[in-house]
Amino acid sequence: MGGALAALCAAALFLTGCSGVGVFRQAEEAADVPERPLSRPVDADTLRHRLTAQQPEWPTGRLPGAPGFRTVDCARVRCVALTFDDGPGKYTGKVLDLLAAHNARATFFVIGRNITPEVRPQLARIVAEGHEIGNHTWNHPQLNGLSPAKLKDELARTSALIKAYTGVRPNTLRPPYGMTNERVAQEAKRQGLAQILWTVDTVDWKDHNAAVVLKRVKQARPGSIVLLHETVKTTVDAIPEILKHFDRQGYAYVTVSELFGEEYLVAGQKYKEHAGTVQ
Ligand code: ZN
Repeated sequence: MGGALAALCAAALFLTGCSGVGVFRQAEEAADVPERPLSRPVDADTLRHRLTAQQPEWPTGRLPGAPGFRTVDCARVRCVALTFDDGPGKYTGKVLDLLAAHNARATFFVIGRNITPEVRPQLARIVAEGHEIGNHTWNHPQLNGLSPAKLKDELARTSALIKAYTGVRPNTLRPPYGMTNERVAQEAKRQGLAQILWTVDTVDWKDHNAAVVLKRVKQARPGSIVLLHETVKTTVDAIPEILKHFDRQGYAYVTVSELFGEEYLVAGQKYKEHAGTVQ
């Protein structure tokens, strides 16, 4: 444990930002973990995703307690980006509780039609607790088979609803099934969305087996993007062991925008992993 702790502390040197050391603070004070370690007051401007030119109407003050975006040098820190697809849903709150207990941030690629009145508080909570929300389309279709109008609508409706209920316009898109093509890339570019695929596919939706999911997650290396589904109960069951695994290895949990550096994400471009990371 001493070695892992030392790695965490060394990694902390490369983190900046108003709450960037939260991950490490928890490790240092393991005996006295605060109930809600992420709830640190930060002004709303630090929360906003930084495609600022596209969201001048940001309603400041909507989420005053939210932690800020962090600048993390994932070329020098062991970073992992956990991503949870297909929500929000009945397990979103549980996933957020588990992540909070480890001061871990993740990215939630949400489906527009799932944003029902019942789960809207969870959607706001995702942002309030420092996670990232990405666009996972409205109906979860294969985007590469859609007409131009339908394609545009799948992305635009979802981004608009996310913005309406969280104040944040997403800057990332995960194409369902990873199905994309040049037309999808062009539309994503027009709508300010970088395409985020993945490095490690847990295939959790198929196996429904927490041990198998954990085993596959362990294939992650620094810079990996791990694909999980928050709608699968056995995946939620696996989260505590997944987080213990990365804690032991001294990883920093980053959102996908933090993984690449938000200012370096290019709309329309496709990303699968962060190259050039420490081993
Ligand atoms: Zn999906």
